Amino acid sequence: MSSIFTKIVNKEIPCYKIAEDDSFLAFLDINPLAKGHTLVIPKKEVDYIFHLDDTLYKELFAFAKKVAPAIEKTIKCERIGITVIGLEVPHAHIHLIPINSLYDMDFKQPKLKLTQEEFAAMAEKIRGNL
Ligand code: 5GP
Repeated sequence: MSSIFTKIVNKEIPCYKIAEDDSFLAFLDINPLAKGHTLVIPKKEVDYIFHLDDTLYKELFAFAKKVAPAIEKTIKCERIGITVIGLEVPHAHIHLIPINSLYDMDFKQPKLKLTQEEFAAMAEKIRGNL
């Protein structure tokens, strides 16, 4: 069965898209730790990030490097934190999270509840800063 992220890639389920090319997609996390919390994925479905081939692995991080400054321009923050967890969705992905302290990277804290309109407006702003 396809991962939920492959379904997003195939447009079977929607996302708030930030950036896309032939191999990668960036979109807002639906349960964000902070406004602008973005996921960056390879379109190819590979569960574990360290099982990506070297080229795709490096290109995934290079794609994230293009997206992060646009998030930083949009959300006032100290910097963009980057982390990989992968315990919930078996499709390799990088989290890009606007942070001001170590606590802002704590996945145990409650997630933000944003409206569809807030997600859409945030994605549009970030896209505008790419
Ligand atoms: P992880 O696999 O890194 O532990 O967590 C997966 C992340 O994907 C979580 O932060 C979760 O909120 C996010 N997520 C799970 N399902 C969806 C979805 O259908 N759409 C979006 N945009 N994010 C999702």
